[in-house]
Amino acid sequence: MRRLIAGNWKMHGTSADLKEIEAIAAAAQATPPAADVVICPPATLLARAALVAGGRIAIGAQNCDADVSGAHTGDVSARMVKDAGASWVILGHSERRQHRGETDSMVAAKATAAWIEGLLTIICIGETQSQRRAGRALSVCANQLAGSIPDGIGVAGNSIGYEPLWAIGTGQTPTVEQVVEALAHIRQCLVARFGAPGKEIRILYGGLVDPANVHEFLSAPEVGGALIGGASLTAKDFNAIIREVPVETVPAQNAAVA
Ligand code: PEP
Repeated sequence: MRRLIAGNWKMHGTSADLKEIEAIAAAAQATPPAADVVICPPATLLARAALVAGGRIAIGAQNCDADVSGAHTGDVSARMVKDAGASWVILGHSERRQHRGETDSMVAAKATAAWIEGLLTIICIGETQSQRRAGRALSVCANQLAGSIPDGIGVAGNSIGYEPLWAIGTGQTPTVEQVVEALAHIRQCLVARFGAPGKEIRILYGGLVDPANVHEFLSAPEVGGALIGGASLTAKDFNAIIREVPVETVPAQNAAVA
């Protein structure tokens, strides 16, 4: 399975930062990456980011609404994301679940809306520190998977992001063994629910991935790529991460094409 390296810029970036996307795209053109690459800037930059990327890397949003249009002041629909030139959307990121009250069923509705518009999704799940301490890490992930993923995930490219909340921007990186255990369980759940297509869904690890540790994470069983926050903000770090992706022998899914 070809890996996916996805950068989540969160609420960072203005016009001045488009040069980072240009540099990431230029590097991908000069040396074709061993993984599919997507950068998810804030909504304000989506259209310009897509122009700058020029199909050399993919562009994604960090959220979308479940409705196509309507009286939802401040929200952006999947159709608008697609219209801006993006081909991906991150859904159910822990920061949206924790700080914006997103529930599994809201994430599932957004995923359906995204797929209808032809967007590929990265649906995020992950346990908190207290859930892990209580021995509930795997059951929490299983429940989030069951509630956040509608039945249509079998489209090639759709991905799950496993991000233990205690490793997001905290300085506390999980061991590779902890990630492998969680991803094995996620894979089991996906196969139990979706059958053979469940084997093809990429599962990304996210949480303090950087150029120094990415190779180790990506070499572990079931790790189909990485979702990267802080280290995706500069071309210097993100390109260094992309260069560390272990080389595959399978053909590209060409995620840069919408
Ligand atoms: C994220 O928030 O999706 C993330 C992985 O952040 P970081 O890489 O900064 O831990």
